[in-house]
Amino acid sequence: MATQRIAVVTGGNKGIGFAIVKELCAKFEGRVYLTARDEGRGATAVEELKKLGLSPHFHQLDIDNQDSINKFSEYIKNTYGGLDVLVNNAAIAYKRAATEPFGEQAENTIRVNYFGTLALCHALFPLLRPHARVCHVSSSCGHLSEICGDEPAATQLRAKLSADTLTENELADLMNQFVETAKDGTFRQKGWPGSTYVVSKVGVSALTRIQHRAFLSDSREDIVVNSCHPGYVDTDMTSHKGPMTIEQGAACPAYLALLPPNISEPRGAYLWHDKSVVDWTNKKPAPV
Ligand code: NDP
Repeated sequence: MATQRIAVVTGGNKGIGFAIVKELCAKFEGRVYLTARDEGRGATAVEELKKLGLSPHFHQLDIDNQDSINKFSEYIKNTYGGLDVLVNNAAIAYKRAATEPFGEQAENTIRVNYFGTLALCHALFPLLRPHARVCHVSSSCGHLSEICGDEPAATQLRAKLSADTLTENELADLMNQFVETAKDGTFRQKGWPGSTYVVSKVGVSALTRIQHRAFLSDSREDIVVNSCHPGYVDTDMTSHKGPMTIEQGAACPAYLALLPPNISEPRGAYLWHDKSVVDWTNKKPAPV
């Protein structure tokens, strides 16, 4: 079995994910997997990076498809026996002008961004080697303060989401409750905001803290997970309105993917695009 170190980036065919692959190809000592849900778009992206003299590997991976997740994790397990870096970058966001009912947007966004990311973690975390690094690309929208529906329900939700005792099952229940209230129109009364993307990203950042606590008592040494806001970046997701380049947006995720062994921090943290650690539970920095 091959013994190379392995890095995996989801949603690597374009945008910030593409630039994360690019930076890891230049800096990571091992094989970098550009994954994409669409084989054709993935192959085109790999060709583009090869023209730059880089050598990414490719595998199909749709985080919204359990069969695809299983095939990918089996492939990594059988080919390499383990994994050293996972960057969960893939996500969707409805445009402001989207006409789909809010409940439908909630169901799809939470399923892909939260439960898809979670499903991939469940499949790949058993393969993480000692000193592995996991980065969840969250968002400024993933800051806890964004849970700002009607009071006092919003304060109660924030307390639940930030509790040091929060479990993965409780967080899954909260994500599902949001979807239900988005469908029956009571989401604001129940404390949730009017953005399905916000809830999905708050979920991802809350998950980071749960996973961090689990890694502290893991028999494997020094596995580190963090989440970050990559900045407001010029990509399809922002309709190219973000001022930052994809390379600038990749800087913090790549930094978290490449954290050296046995660092004391950041661990289980939420970082801003400038690599500073931000207090997830209190006041959020100014936008961008
Ligand atoms: P893009 O929309 O440009 O790219 C998103 C990537 O995710 C694409 O490769 C897309 O693939 C992929 N993807 C979507 N759904 C799936 C799926 N089910 N399985 C696998 N891949 C999937 O977005 P950005 O590059 O802007 O965003 C990257 C990350 O950064 C996201 O997590 C986003 O939420 C976050 N972010 C972005 C900000 C910004 O300003 N751009 C700000 C804050 C956070 P396909 O091409 O097939 O659709």
